[in-house]
Amino acid sequence: MAAAIHKIYTMAKIKMTTPLVEMDGDEMTRILWQMIKDDLILPFVDLKTEYYDLGLVKRDETRDQITVDAAEATKKYGVAVKCATITPNLKRMDEYKLHEMWKSPNGTIRSILDGTVFRTPITIPSIHPVVKNWDEPITIARHAYGDVYKSVEIRANEPGVAKLVFDGENGQHEEVVIHNFKGAGVIQGMHNLDKSIRSFAHSCFKFAIDTKKSLWFSTKDTISKKYDAQFRIIFEEVFEEYKAKFEELGIEYFYTLIDDAVARVIRSKGGFIWACKNYDGDVMSDMVSTAFGSLAMMTSVLVSPDGKYEFEAAHGTVTRHYYKYMEDHQMTSTNPMATIFAWSGALRKRGEMDGIKELVNFADQLEGACFDTLNEGICTKDLAGLMEGITPKSVNSDVFIKEIRTRLEKRLA
Ligand code: NAP
Ligand code: MG
Repeated sequence: MAAAIHKIYTMAKIKMTTPLVEMDGDEMTRILWQMIKDDLILPFVDLKTEYYDLGLVKRDETRDQITVDAAEATKKYGVAVKCATITPNLKRMDEYKLHEMWKSPNGTIRSILDGTVFRTPITIPSIHPVVKNWDEPITIARHAYGDVYKSVEIRANEPGVAKLVFDGENGQHEEVVIHNFKGAGVIQGMHNLDKSIRSFAHSCFKFAIDTKKSLWFSTKDTISKKYDAQFRIIFEEVFEEYKAKFEELGIEYFYTLIDDAVARVIRSKGGFIWACKNYDGDVMSDMVSTAFGSLAMMTSVLVSPDGKYEFEAAHGTVTRHYYKYMEDHQMTSTNPMATIFAWSGALRKRGEMDGIKELVNFADQLEGACFDTLNEGICTKDLAGLMEGITPKSVNSDVFIKEIRTRLEKRLA
């Protein structure tokens, strides 16, 4: 009798106080989304969400207003979890009979929240990174505004002079010669904004404190004495606000030149956040994620400068698997890890913000159950070929999620 009561008591669902902003998505990840909720969340958590369907059908129906609403809700409540979504192209226009080629939802949400994206690999002992001394994950933060991505260019077809001119509204006038061309060549003009760099810095320091990891930042300010130096100066200024908290947590802010950073990253043990300028982040995130093994094992968090969070998987909607699933109604072996970790990340953050220890613990146990499953060799097809020192048993997504459920129940009993 006592045992039975205990069982009922421990199975009581965890209560939430503030809703999580839930952004549903497309294709295979939309299928996984429902499975994760049904099997891994709803039996344990009295889930409170404000639901936004960002699936392409609904985005088209609402003329993309739903994406804006979802971003505004994230501003209001502070934490969101997002499923991967289709960014339409010409092919999708036809496939979904769209009214317009709607912009990338991630781009829309990012511009409303003014946030920075942090990508972190989920690592397990049986999958070794290509760089063998990387014991812990490396998180990359990419500044997503300006530089070469918003540059203008001229092809000079003949000799002539190229100048950089600034005409200020209040009288600042500066003119410098870029180059006296003796023959043909190329010219590029780019910019960035103090405001955007400052937001980037705030998001980075906040995320470092959040994850209790040191923050590295790198530019080429020895060569670029005004442009890149401005990034370094703003980071130094903003760091003053966070310095005490860094000291308290025993983490550090480390600034170095980009080439020195690259060399140090390769020799490091990992376990830190590397903030990069736009282009460096574009290039280095591909290198770091590939070296860690699998896109399916990469999580992504958008952090706004005022501390709003949106959690998601770094991968897309896994279209190829979805078409296969639709064709023969057989469950595919698509890896749900990054999407599960988006949920656990969001629930943990909600728990921390609202002071709900049970919710934080649930997030830990859910991730723990995922690791238990993988550490026993039970995995999806994409990981089977990567595992070493263990005999992998590859299963379909539904079986994999059920295996996680079994271990989660054990942990929570
Ligand atoms: P993708 O969905 O990331 O998939 C590319 C390939 O990577 C897959 O075909 C698969 O390889 C492998 N893969 C990715 N995630 C996997 C997982 N969880 N489990 C197993 N394998 C996985 O990229 P995509 O095919 O280029 O894009 C598909 C759609 O997603 C596009 O419409 C794009 O707009 C959208 N997208 C959305 C986001 C987002 O919402 N954040 C990000 C990127 C792309 P195999 O086929 O070899 O098995
Ligand atoms: Mg890239």
